[in-house]
Amino acid sequence: MKPEDFQRQFAEMMQQHMPNLGNPAGFQAANQESSDATKKEAKEEKFEFCHLPKDVKAYLDRFVIRQDEAKKVLSVALCDHYHHVRRSQEGNDLANYAKQNVILLGPTGVGKTYLIKSVAELIGVPFVKGDATKFSETGYVGGDVEDLVRELARRADGDIKKAQYGIIYIDEIDKIAQSDQSGGRDVSGRGVQTNLLKLMEETDVAARSQQDIGAQIQAMMESQKGKKSGNHINTKHILFIVSGAFDGLSKIIEKRLNDSTIGFAAIGQPAADEANVLDHVETKDLLEYGFEPEFVGRLPVRVVCQELSQDDLYSILKSSEGSIVRQYEADFAAYGIEVLFSEDALQRIAALASLEKTGARGLMTVCERIFRNYKFELPSSSVKQFEVTRAVIDRPVEELKQLLQRQESPETKIAKGLIEEFAARFRDTHELELRFSGDAIESLRKMASAEDKSVRELCQERFKDFQFGLKLIAQNTGQLVFELDETAVADPEKKLSEWVVASYRGENPEDPLAEVSNDVSASDSASAGKDES
Ligand code: ADP
Repeated sequence: MKPEDFQRQFAEMMQQHMPNLGNPAGFQAANQESSDATKKEAKEEKFEFCHLPKDVKAYLDRFVIRQDEAKKVLSVALCDHYHHVRRSQEGNDLANYAKQNVILLGPTGVGKTYLIKSVAELIGVPFVKGDATKFSETGYVGGDVEDLVRELARRADGDIKKAQYGIIYIDEIDKIAQSDQSGGRDVSGRGVQTNLLKLMEETDVAARSQQDIGAQIQAMMESQKGKKSGNHINTKHILFIVSGAFDGLSKIIEKRLNDSTIGFAAIGQPAADEANVLDHVETKDLLEYGFEPEFVGRLPVRVVCQELSQDDLYSILKSSEGSIVRQYEADFAAYGIEVLFSEDALQRIAALASLEKTGARGLMTVCERIFRNYKFELPSSSVKQFEVTRAVIDRPVEELKQLLQRQESPETKIAKGLIEEFAARFRDTHELELRFSGDAIESLRKMASAEDKSVRELCQERFKDFQFGLKLIAQNTGQLVFELDETAVADPEKKLSEWVVASYRGENPEDPLAEVSNDVSASDSASAGKDES
């Protein structure tokens, strides 16, 4: 048997019997990766970088609102880092250079990830985001910090060279630092810090995980054939950015500032100005917070992102190129619907979002809540344009209903009037109320036109003698209001007999839990019952 056949069969067998051991496509992907890598190595692409800090900041300004200081510091750190990478590739010896790894502080939803993602896009380097709480010291239970490095290679389509210039962003880093004050130092957190430290300094990470059996066998076969796999990712030029909300750190800084002889007054800061306390963070504060000195030492750049005000949220909606408003415009445009957001609607969304206390994430929560029905209903309506006004934000359901009604064709409007008139006469004569749903009205209108009858005529014909069955139900259950949907229009007799049978079973349609065999009639009778009450 040829070695390749053996490899394939073995990988298939492992996948079949032990699916959790490795990536199903892992083996083939590894094969693919190695041949891709060889191709790319052959090309020996040079790392290009020509940006200036001001260009980077200007680019970030298009997407990220506020956070000016953070944008400046980041632009400088990133340019320093990537110019260094470029120059060291050109053969310059910069032995004493300290990598510009970044620690990013600030509450949730203020643009920390967005800043880094945007900058990685600008520079064209792979970007990976991980969560510090997901890693365990051993890597057995949780994830392994080295997986982040391998993920960079995956993001770079197996281009290991490119992965070596990537950005690794680790959120919730504050969760692996536990100060003595808050219940003892977390041993496993310290272990994760040590593992990360190794990566931040310089180490070779195997491009194939130990857990991926297929990839391991592939590597073994290659080495037997005398091939040098060379599949290691060196972390020397990978930029590490860690971030967190750092709850409780302000208190530590505040205490130090108050205790020191200089205090707040000397730094020109009123003691009550809590919002900017993080700006004064120093190494000793981070140590007190629970980080290892070596770990903090590897994060020389400190960036603080500020809380976003209601006005900032409005600016995000109005002018960020990544604004959620643009997304909604695009989502509706996909169905040929044009949407216009009014100024006061944007103000109102910002006001509601700021109540959520989750930064710009609140904008998504609020918009999702408001527009979910619009996204469901409008694509299958005749609406082609609509304005999002403040009323839409405050009363989305009612406004949607009105919008749909306004768009009704003249024929539908007339049919609705005729059907309402029929229902009114039915009520006057039999003291029973028929309520036709929008779908029911539309199908009666279409049926009338297909059968070349008037709507009035059709209603009288289809619901002839309906009152007898309904009266029976009224006697059995007390129900006086009946909702008719499309199915009731399609086969009124069937619907009526289902209702009658249910009422004889003693299942009061007013009870939404009534167990009726046909679930369609169950929901109808339940809602009809609710209306009556
Ligand atoms: P975090 O600070 O928790 O990392 P993110 O950067 O993930 O928050 O923000 C979530 C989303 O909110 C972003 O994808 C972006 O759409 C929006 N957003 C957050 N902050 C800003 C900001 N300052 N300017 C523009 N959009 C922002």
